[in-house]
Amino acid sequence: MQLLEAGQAETSARILYDSCPLCSGKDLRIVRRADCSQHPLYRPEIPADMTWLGCADCAHVFTEGYFDESALNLIFGRTQIGQTVGHDIEGQRAVSARMVQWIGEQADLGDWLDVGFGNGSLLFTAEEFGFRPVGIDLRKANVETLRALGYEAYCMDFADLATNGRFSVISMADVLEHMPYPKPALAAAHRLMQPDGVLFLSMPNIDNMVWRLLDANKANPYWGEIEHYHNFSRKRLHALLEEHGFRPIKYRVSERYRVCMEVLAVKQERLAS
Ligand SMILES: [Zn+2]
Repeated sequence: MQLLEAGQAETSARILYDSCPLCSGKDLRIVRRADCSQHPLYRPEIPADMTWLGCADCAHVFTEGYFDESALNLIFGRTQIGQTVGHDIEGQRAVSARMVQWIGEQADLGDWLDVGFGNGSLLFTAEEFGFRPVGIDLRKANVETLRALGYEAYCMDFADLATNGRFSVISMADVLEHMPYPKPALAAAHRLMQPDGVLFLSMPNIDNMVWRLLDANKANPYWGEIEHYHNFSRKRLHALLEEHGFRPIKYRVSERYRVCMEVLAVKQERLAS
């Protein structure tokens, strides 16, 4: 581990949003302050306080800023055990199978792109069900492991993929809330998908009784979740999907993470603008 030089502490910080990252609204209010210093990925070079803002125009809730590159390197320099390829592969397979079955009821068998594949379970299981798996992840070691196992995998921003119209399924499991700007990702998903392709999203849901109860008990882990920039409600997510040419068709509760929702949306042809 590298020791912190004097004066270096200020080099890792957040780049502040000057408007709502979803609707560009300027009327922003502080809704919550939290401390992320107990998070396993926290590093002392990163600010310990997290400030959450609410947009008066669209009601979206998001952090006041996103990490600059030096902070990201510190955070992504370490990988949590659950995000390494093959972690708990048998336990994860059963949960992934229920997800693939649910998604597969709406999607044609074809190429399946998993954005942020993490431990790889969803991709391995999709393959078992007859899909052709493609993985993309920002963690280089994960991509190298998947490639060594013979899978098509990329370490890049998935908006840079050029295979328009290829995928019958794109899954972004617990990904959108990690992106400083989710809209370009949804636009890329739309472009990369075949007509009637199915988009799978999962993320925490801010608008339900469990969330409110955790808040009341001061036990909600998501306000101090260092890797998240957004707390979506189902309503806000659905509106965002519709704005990007997707029709939300199914909703259910996640088995993988606390208080999370899972949403399926079908690609619609874009309206001429
Ligand atoms: Zn907004």
